[in-house]
Amino acid sequence: MELEPRPLDSPADEALLPLAALGGFRPHATHTTAPWYGHAVNGAALLQELMSYVQFGSEDAALLVEARPYLAASFPDVIDAFYVAIEAQPRARAVFEDGAQIERQKHMLGGWLERVFEGVYDGAYYESRARIGYAHVRIGLDPALMVAAMNVVRTELHAAVETLVGRPEFPGSRRVALHRAVDRICDIDSAIMLETYRDDYAVRIRGTEKLAALGQVAGTIGHELRNPLAVMETSVHLLRSRLPEDAKTTRHLDRLAAQVVLCTNIVRDLMDLARDRAPNRSETRIGDVLAEAVSSVPESEGVISRMLPDDDVVCFVDPLQLRQLLVNLVTNALQAASSGPAGVAVTVEHAGGELRIRVEDDGAGIPDDVRPRLFEPLFTTRMRGVGFGLALCRRIAEQHGGQIRASNRAEGGARFEATLPCTTETPP
Ligand code: ADP
Repeated sequence: MELEPRPLDSPADEALLPLAALGGFRPHATHTTAPWYGHAVNGAALLQELMSYVQFGSEDAALLVEARPYLAASFPDVIDAFYVAIEAQPRARAVFEDGAQIERQKHMLGGWLERVFEGVYDGAYYESRARIGYAHVRIGLDPALMVAAMNVVRTELHAAVETLVGRPEFPGSRRVALHRAVDRICDIDSAIMLETYRDDYAVRIRGTEKLAALGQVAGTIGHELRNPLAVMETSVHLLRSRLPEDAKTTRHLDRLAAQVVLCTNIVRDLMDLARDRAPNRSETRIGDVLAEAVSSVPESEGVISRMLPDDDVVCFVDPLQLRQLLVNLVTNALQAASSGPAGVAVTVEHAGGELRIRVEDDGAGIPDDVRPRLFEPLFTTRMRGVGFGLALCRRIAEQHGGQIRASNRAEGGARFEATLPCTTETPP
């Protein structure tokens, strides 16, 4: 399997880029809920509410449809202006990896513009916008940048409307009305996208509350279980030396030992959850942590792991927490991989003052309905899963001032990317 470090480029990933996904999604449903979200949103009703709030009516819709053939010639200028603005804004520019990707996104922005002027504003329209918003949330795009980007489009559309001066179909009063329609539809689109940020915030708060409550119970239970587990471990050890060495007995003892390890790991995770301690940072040679973390995961021999540009990268992080983040991601990737350890690649890259940790596998990828809940404590789809691993990863990334996100690879399989600032001293 080829697992090269590479930019986000799957169709799903394209939807992650700021305004990149605009127009890239064609929902099949014409109503109701946003299935990729943790809860149901009645999109059609919310859209109606927004339309009535900004007073967007059938006259606005008709004007947009009527103006479309005249304005379509200006769409390339709108798109170019948008990307000039992106180029000028380092934080927005950072989301794009290369020129080819920008070209693809320009094409998609064109699709988004077309849809604005199609005249059908229903549940499907809401969903397509919400999906774009959610894509922005996923890459951690600052909502302020999203709104700013929308304003570039709005300004350019107003300029396009002004090119209608002199056309008998659009005398002054109709152009004024068209400007108003453009403002209203842009307001609606921004509002829908911002709504997804609000949803995300609500989900996060619920997760944090759950973690805090869990932490209290977990601390007590974890503590109580630690000793009995240690006793079991010792007993297994003693039994091994006393019982006759036949295959059946050995198999049962191995099974017992494996289950004790499993329980011990769960207890360790519980205790970690309970502790919720701030990172204990020290100068850490990242390559060492990477090598040690990967090799500590059972059956990880063959996992492709690399440190870029070289093993000498040193950052001021909590080595134990970084190790845990890597262990959790690699454990998950190994569980998901189709071709065993060779189907898992871990890349840690130091670039632009950041540490970028990418764990990829060649498994089935993350289903749409699972993705929004991935990082929720106690969320699991595995028969023997507990649902702590990714919640802990997110907490570790965020406590370091970073973030973590998940996507699917174009070739199949999942990709988890954590970005932590790589400072050489404690940040203020
Ligand atoms: P657990 O491993 O106990 O289920 P996690 O928090 O580590 O808990 O993971 C939560 C869920 O995220 C998993 O149950 C699985 O559905 C999904 N998941 C995690 N890693 C991957 C991956 N590499 N590929 C696909 N799904 C994944």
